[in-house]
Amino acid sequence: MAERDGNRCSFVGAEGHRCDEVAWIELHHRIPFAQGGDSSVENLELRCKRHNQYQAELDYGAALIEARRRQRDLSDRVREGFDGEGWGHRSDGPSPRARRAG
Ligand SMILES: [Zn+2]
Repeated sequence: MAERDGNRCSFVGAEGHRCDEVAWIELHHRIPFAQGGDSSVENLELRCKRHNQYQAELDYGAALIEARRRQRDLSDRVREGFDGEGWGHRSDGPSPRARRAG
């Protein structure tokens, strides 16, 4: 499959210009896994990291990806907030609140 695609990104732009990126090559599912795509040679092609990301945005919606990114940023901020509230130390165990509840 890699040989078929010439070991480079197989993305073809709107103007018919094929990307010739050979670095950061990843496997791309033409039919997304979530939509019943399999891992057969017919369903896979090579994409550079940039175009794989671009295709994912087309498949799943840029809004969804952006929402996920924001959610991650938010949870990071929440965690920092908890540490600053005087829980005293960073612990991998259950939180004081969970202990009280259990
Ligand atoms: Zn590319």
